[in-house]
Amino acid sequence: MAKYPDKKIIIIMGTLSSGKGTQADKIAEAFGLHHFDTGPFLKKILSSDDPSIAKEKSEYESGKWVSPEFVVKKVLEHAPIFLIQSKGIIFSGSPRTIYEVERELPVFEELVGPENVVVFNLDISEAESLKRSLGRLICEKNKHPIPDLPEFQEIRKAGVCPHDGSKLIKKDLDKPETLKSRSSEHNQRTLPVIDFFRKCGYKVIEINGEQPIDKVFADMMCWLPQYCK
Ligand SMILES: [Zn+2]
Repeated sequence: MAKYPDKKIIIIMGTLSSGKGTQADKIAEAFGLHHFDTGPFLKKILSSDDPSIAKEKSEYESGKWVSPEFVVKKVLEHAPIFLIQSKGIIFSGSPRTIYEVERELPVFEELVGPENVVVFNLDISEAESLKRSLGRLICEKNKHPIPDLPEFQEIRKAGVCPHDGSKLIKKDLDKPETLKSRSSEHNQRTLPVIDFFRKCGYKVIEINGEQPIDKVFADMMCWLPQYCK
């Protein structure tokens, strides 16, 4: 028996710049869910001076990936807290490796029951992903991405993050070669995660992520009433 059978856990998969974060924000708002955005979440955790995370902190600050063990530990520590505070959780950056999904999914199932775990995949082509990533701005404070899409032009012009008010900047890392290798690394890691969900009996709901933001949102919403009553 699940601990919170009336709550949901929604997971949005998708490649770089597929719009995961944007859609997660919109769905979280529509259903009163907590948007668990792993990037800013880890950044916040790693900004503390807690001595028990000193090793992870120094790795993170030197630009390395945070270890999957650490990510899983922190996600699983916080998921129950966020579940209590809201109607559910929507993830936009986790799980992104087999290591993570193997450890997180059984816990999610215990928390809300498998029938309340929903998995989406936002599908965009590699060319579109590259184009969007190259034009992307991020905020200084929490690295919220602001894509180069018509819906974001006003925000980009204003140069201020709508989430935390910090300045929007261009990321140095975003060079075509770097992005191509990051994108192929991302796909190599996450495609097996999608397969894992399928093997566990989940329907991975495929959404065409190249449509305008509102159309992508509408397509996702078509699937959600049966889950989010
Ligand atoms: Zn921000």
